[in-house]
Amino acid sequence: MARVRLNHVYKRFGDVTAVKDFHLDIEDKEFLVLVGPSGCGKSTTLRMIAGLEEISEGELYIGDRLVNDVPPKDRDIAMVFQSYALYPHMNVYDNMAFGLKLRKFKKDEIDKRVREAARILDIEHLLDRKPKALSGGQRQRVALGRAIVREPQVFLMDEPLSNLDAKLRVQMRTEISKLHQRLETTVIYVTHDQTEAMTMGNRIVVMRDGVIQQAATPTEIYEHPANMFVAGFIGSPAMNFIEGSLFEEGGDVYFRTKGLQVKIPDGKAKTLRDGGYVGKEVVFGIRPENIHDEPVFLEASPDSAVEVKVEVAEHMGSEMYLYLSGVGEKWLTARVNARTQYGPGAQVKLALDMNKCHVFDKETEVAVL
Ligand code: ATP
Repeated sequence: MARVRLNHVYKRFGDVTAVKDFHLDIEDKEFLVLVGPSGCGKSTTLRMIAGLEEISEGELYIGDRLVNDVPPKDRDIAMVFQSYALYPHMNVYDNMAFGLKLRKFKKDEIDKRVREAARILDIEHLLDRKPKALSGGQRQRVALGRAIVREPQVFLMDEPLSNLDAKLRVQMRTEISKLHQRLETTVIYVTHDQTEAMTMGNRIVVMRDGVIQQAATPTEIYEHPANMFVAGFIGSPAMNFIEGSLFEEGGDVYFRTKGLQVKIPDGKAKTLRDGGYVGKEVVFGIRPENIHDEPVFLEASPDSAVEVKVEVAEHMGSEMYLYLSGVGEKWLTARVNARTQYGPGAQVKLALDMNKCHVFDKETEVAVL
């Protein structure tokens, strides 16, 4: 069982608390992604699991074993770094075999494992080459191969794709996901890239300033972000945040700000009423893809309409990003089908999909809807 359990874990570097009260059970065979902006503590968390940083407070279990004081080599983990850390003077075969030789594995067992890993990663034809004769993607495969041959209980990966170009990154992303399915082991993966997190993780942990903001499936995080930080960090282009207030009229609840008045659907209105938010200042959130330009949306829900002016229109191929003025103080972003061509200066009437709207507490920034 390769369960990993962090029990109220802290990491302090002098006065800096890099990780605060990290409490999480990572399930056997799970692909868990730690994501967040630079300096949020994700690498430090991973390095504590690896045994490369001491834990200041709390307990770490791998399987059923408390490993706080177990050295890295005895933790049954393998780590893949951003810098592949291959030995330049050794060929690919020896780079992959090195860790097993150190652990005094028999020669034919080493050979079996290296060839099997090379086959899985499709690098059998590269075994005699030195790292400098490999492309970035091939080097990354060798680094993965070196981890695979160890047959660890847990793989730890720290931004393993960040040195690759955009196209290769997408390709390796899929390969690592496939590898995970095939090896059936637990993977803990660190990235600052929300697309990587969304596409690879069974579960995502969003961190900020050393604190877990939310730990949930990609869908849950996307559809029900716990607070404004998560809502703004996950999703591209980012969610629109509009400051304004909620009021009630004729039994219905509305959100209102300069240039916008929209009706909150009944189910959501009840939650807001029960939470005591009607009559208060709030932050309203709507993702760019939930602002529609098709007439059918406007016809279906005329009380979700907004009239705006196109300031900038970006063509992205099959879709367009529109940056719009006329609501509140900031521009809104809408992601619409590129079939309609909008130019700067155009006045347009759009519909907000109010079933997909979010409302946040203005003080705490916590999602209330
Ligand atoms: P990045 O994506 O930039 O690597 P990160 O989320 O992985 O960022 P960490 O490297 O875990 O962040 O760092 C978290 C905090 O701990 C930062 O404020 C960092 O400056 C601090 N920190 C990390 N290592 C040390 C150290 N050895 N000594 C002092 N402070 C440190």
